[in-house]
Amino acid sequence: MSGFDKSRRIVVKIGTSTLTHEEGHLNLRRIEALVKTLSDFKNAGHQVILVSSGAVSAGVAKLNTRRPINVAEKQAMAAIGQSELMKLYSRLFSDYGHTVAQILLTKDVIDNPTRRTAAENTFSTLLGLGCIPIVNENDSVSTEGLNFGGNDTLSAYVALVCHADLLINLSDIDGLYDKDPRKFPDAKRIDRVDGIDDNVLAMAGGAGTARGTGGMATKLLAAKIVLEAGIPMYILNGQDPTVLYEILDGKHVGTYFAPRS
Ligand code: GLU
Repeated sequence: MSGFDKSRRIVVKIGTSTLTHEEGHLNLRRIEALVKTLSDFKNAGHQVILVSSGAVSAGVAKLNTRRPINVAEKQAMAAIGQSELMKLYSRLFSDYGHTVAQILLTKDVIDNPTRRTAAENTFSTLLGLGCIPIVNENDSVSTEGLNFGGNDTLSAYVALVCHADLLINLSDIDGLYDKDPRKFPDAKRIDRVDGIDDNVLAMAGGAGTARGTGGMATKLLAAKIVLEAGIPMYILNGQDPTVLYEILDGKHVGTYFAPRS
């Protein structure tokens, strides 16, 4: 991909381990940098949809309690944390003159044609109004079978529903490596992937961090979903969210997943 000279519709996904500190409190410096960068993308004429995790962690941090153990506790923490997250996003984005809108999804919305069309219409209306939709799974009412298996997968479906031009997954790792870089210091980052086959799947290491739920396997699944729909995807290290500018400038960072042309 050679930079963004035209206005594009971009879905950016950011995970819990990138949004929060070790103890689970929100990483304000990082979130501020993310909001500023995405606001600048908007100012440059792009449409931005943010898929943000962090609800459960923000709820735990707000109550200053231990990590939730059972599903009901996690759902309660998500209900508390989601409004904390939105309060922060709303304030920071409005500092840069932008309006956010919360959309909480469950998998049954995507699977049901009528409800999916309703979601499509809402996204398209919000984007037409110049808003920044901020999406999370509706954790508080998700049950087994209704969930996406994490926001990596959710972000892929959001890209489909929004007819996005690009999905960017901001992770705590620089991209896809030929083997797990946490275990093998000689692991090499892959610049570009053309299609998700067994060789690519074999490069995915184990699960992610204690706070996040994803890992490389769910990111590759997300890539498979969007590539089949002709949408490219990047995995980038979100430690410094201004890395997004590099994509805007057509530089080579992270791992680029190319759809079949
Ligand atoms: N929806 C969850 C949250 O906001 C995160 C899911 C994930 O980490 O993929 O806490």
